[in-house]
Formats: sequence, structure tokens, C-alpha cells
Amino acid sequence: MRIFKERASLTAYLEALRSQGKTIGFVPTMGALHEGHLSLLRAAGEKSDVVVCSIFVNPTQFNDPQDFKKYPIRTGADIRQLMATPVDLLFLPSAAEIYQHGTDRLATFDFGRVETLLEGASRPGHFQGVGQVLEQLLATIPADFLFMGEKDYQQLLITKRLLTLLHIKTELIPCPILREADGLAMSSRNQRLSETGRKTAPALYRALRFVKENPENLSFPELTARAASRLEKDGFRVAYVSIAGAADLEPLSGPIPGKMICLAAAWLDGVRLIDNLPLN
Ligand code: AMP
Repeated sequence: MRIFKERASLTAYLEALRSQGKTIGFVPTMGALHEGHLSLLRAAGEKSDVVVCSIFVNPTQFNDPQDFKKYPIRTGADIRQLMATPVDLLFLPSAAEIYQHGTDRLATFDFGRVETLLEGASRPGHFQGVGQVLEQLLATIPADFLFMGEKDYQQLLITKRLLTLLHIKTELIPCPILREADGLAMSSRNQRLSETGRKTAPALYRALRFVKENPENLSFPELTARAASRLEKDGFRVAYVSIAGAADLEPLSGPIPGKMICLAAAWLDGVRLIDNLPLN
């Protein structure tokens, strides 16, 4: 695995591979890698000739400076894990390398209403930051395929819109959520949970299962309220539990013919966890 820290040399290297007809699969991450990330890299390896992984904790997508400061960084361990995974290139840029003209006058994007819902409402500016970093990463990495996890479902919808807005031809490939044996969605943030927090955390997935299975035949508003109050009882501080249309994340008060999804975000132990589950 080759490691690049500079944009220009990585782009030149990848353009040379592309001119030989090789396809490029790209997996952007913020590091503290776990099996969820590795599953994206394996999917990239199956579909592309060259697999590029980036590790960059993007400051512009954190609306809470404390959350940014506490984000786990384990580059040495990440590199060791990547050596045992079919990854050809690792991009490890500094913030100055990504944002070469600073972060004060970055582009903003019109993502429409989906940006204002759920994660967007809880974390103002978050998706602008996601758009800003992806614009820079995709300007550096001429990817044929971009692999992203359904764990960050809203981010997938935003990314689809970003690719359209920027006229980027990269194909977005959504990948399924990897979970621990007890159902907890794998996340770099799980490492920050206390021992008791870690034991409680799978309740988030159980709440989604409760909504999906609807054992008490409740209405959508009753279901989400019941799921949220179960979580609060377990010690979570709930940001949202929402049943929404999978295409636009508009909240639903009852069933629709199209695809529906339940999404939740909650704080436990000062750690913000998110998860989601398709309902049909
Ligand atoms: P992050 O490092 O948290 O920014 O995540 C990098 C990529 O990995 C994103 O596309 C995430 O959606 C994806 N990802 C994170 N956790 C999981 C998981 N448990 N299963 C599948 N993909 C994941």
C-alpha cells in the first residue's frame, strides 16, 4: 500500500493508472477504522482495479468543536489494519492540504430540504461540511466508484445530490450497515463509550426493530414516541426517532406505497450515536 499526503502527487499517480484503463474505487473515511469501513474497502476491491482509502477528520463538518476535539485518531493502528486489507493507496492529507485556500470562503451547496431534516436539524452546517470535503477529495481522486455506508443514510442522499450539482460522473455505491453481534451499528464513536454505555448502546437498534415490528400496532407518531421514551428510560438523550420516506426523509404520519425508513440519533455517555433500519 502506498501512502500519499499531497493532492497533486496522488492525482498524477491516479491519472496515470486511469490512462491505462484501470478503474478506481474510493472509500472516504475519518479513520479509527472498524469492520464497517473494511467492508466498504472489500466491496471497492471487488468492483474496481485500484482501491483508494482516505483518512481525514474533516473540521468543517463538525458543528460542535468538542465533538471534533474528541474524535478518535489512531492513524498507526489504521495503517496496520489497511495493510491486511486489499487497499492500494491511502490518502492521508492535512487540513491545509485539503483546504489550500483556508476554510473561510468555501463553496456552499443547495441540497434542498433534505439538508434541513434530522441530522441537518440537529447539526446545522454538517452537510455543507460533508459537501465541502467531498468536493475536494473528488477533485483529487478521479474515482469511478464512490463507496459509502448506509449507516449514514442521509449523507448518501446528500452525496447523490452533490454529484449531480457538481456534474461529477463518479457512481455512488451504497453499502449495508455492519453491526456488532448484539446489533449495535459499528462506529468509530463506539470506542468512546464506557463499559456500561457499551452494554446499553444496542438498545438503539432494538428501538428501530421495535418500530419495524410494531408489536403493539401503534400509529407512526405513537411508535416513534414509544421508541424514544424507551431510549430515554435506558439513559439515552434522544435527538430524534423518525419514520420517513426513504427517498427524501420527509417525516411520515402513516404508511406510503414507497420505501420507508426509521432513523434515530441519540446521545449516550456524551457520545452521539446514529442508526437506521428500512421498514419495507
Ligand atoms: P466515517 O469514518 O464514520 O466517516 O465513515 C466512513 C464511511 O464508512 C462512511 O461511508 C460510513 O457510512 C461508513 N460506515 C461507518 N460505519 C459503518 C458501518 N457500521 N457499516 C457500514 N459502513 C459504515
